[in-house]
Amino acid sequence: MSAVITEPTSGLREGAFGHATGLACRECGHQIPLGPHYACTECFGPLEIAYDFPAITREEIEAGPANIWRYKTLLPVPSDIVDSPNMEPGFTRLLKAHNLGAELGITNLWVKDDSTNPTNSFKDRVVACALSAAREFDAKVFACPSTGNLANAVAAAGARAGIKTVVFIPANLEQPKQVNSAIYTDSLVAVNGNYDDVNKLASEIAGEEDGWAFVNVNVRPYYAEGSKTLGYEIAEQLGWRLPDQIVIPVASGSQLTKVDKAFQELIKLGLVEEKPYTVFGAQATGCSPVSVAFKEGHQVIRPVKPDTIAKSLAIGNPADGIYVLDICRRTGGTVEDISDEQVREAIVLLARTEGIFTETAGGTTVGVLKKLVETGQLDPNLETVVINTGHGLKTLDAISDRVGAAATIEPTYDSFRSSGII
Ligand SMILES: *Cc1c(COP(=O)(O)O)cnc(C)c1O
Ligand SMILES: [Zn+2]
Repeated sequence: MSAVITEPTSGLREGAFGHATGLACRECGHQIPLGPHYACTECFGPLEIAYDFPAITREEIEAGPANIWRYKTLLPVPSDIVDSPNMEPGFTRLLKAHNLGAELGITNLWVKDDSTNPTNSFKDRVVACALSAAREFDAKVFACPSTGNLANAVAAAGARAGIKTVVFIPANLEQPKQVNSAIYTDSLVAVNGNYDDVNKLASEIAGEEDGWAFVNVNVRPYYAEGSKTLGYEIAEQLGWRLPDQIVIPVASGSQLTKVDKAFQELIKLGLVEEKPYTVFGAQATGCSPVSVAFKEGHQVIRPVKPDTIAKSLAIGNPADGIYVLDICRRTGGTVEDISDEQVREAIVLLARTEGIFTETAGGTTVGVLKKLVETGQLDPNLETVVINTGHGLKTLDAISDRVGAAATIEPTYDSFRSSGII
């Protein structure tokens, strides 16, 4: 695989990864000790963190800080994680969506609004966990290939932690997402290629250079665990209860699989009552390899070349796509996709009904929610959560020709009266 980062010569710090016990292969179950590894030595399957959780109560969690570290016992991080400089993401709002629910005919709808994280996307959660791992492995460079939001989160977290960052993005990325990275780092690298090209380049660099922690490559198992906190929070904010249905955007598919993992852990730990729930995945038609595989009943994902305004979801060869298929099939859900035009409509719909300005990823998720109701795939009478993963200010171009001044007038009352506004 890659030389990348190695365990510190002095060995890992006691408790460096909390209650994590090792890395387990998701395909063959083979276990190896904790380290900067991401692929199984036996079958090249993806590695995942294995734990031996202690007993934990709701009260202990509730007494924690109002960020993801309230769940530190369930994450691969040391118990003193709160003392190290980090972005302190999470514990974002779970809003009852009265108006959007009424508009879509859903009686009990919630929006988990992750656009209010420190760099305005859910990526701050995963990066916080990856940063902790990078520190424990003594990484010299904190890096990522990114569709935009991840680069923002890595660049900011690295600045705050005082570690050198290098972030790689497709050169055609939205300008605001470029600026939102470049403001924190002097090493934003724009690559002439799509995300899958950038990702391949990152793996190559990881194999050649020493001391680099690529958050979603060689420390991916640690990074991915951060998405579990979305699931924990939703359950806690519902009053320690799982929703009946949840709609989640799918890029690599990591977030969706980890929200499901979080629900399963909460059940096993006795923190919520066991109950059936249904998971739905959302993609944009212009990059919908998982949705296509779901509809065709395939067990594998055929990679595609992305062509959609939902750039943060534009991963044509999604690493966790097959696990998304498993989870949606197991829970009775589906994976759906909508057109770019429907993505734009849904961005405006969420803004006008709930006062939440989402980026194209959230437009995709809300638009798919709408389609799921209209096509009878989602039960409008069951409690439903839809996740908004990013902020609309980062993808202004997507809707800037749809909304704007309703009238341009002279600064006189007469001019206003004749504008037709009222
Ligand atoms: C990265 C991202 C996702 C999905 O992430 P995966 O875990 O790769 O599926 C969703 N929404 C936004 C805004 C993102 O940046
Ligand atoms: Zn294996």
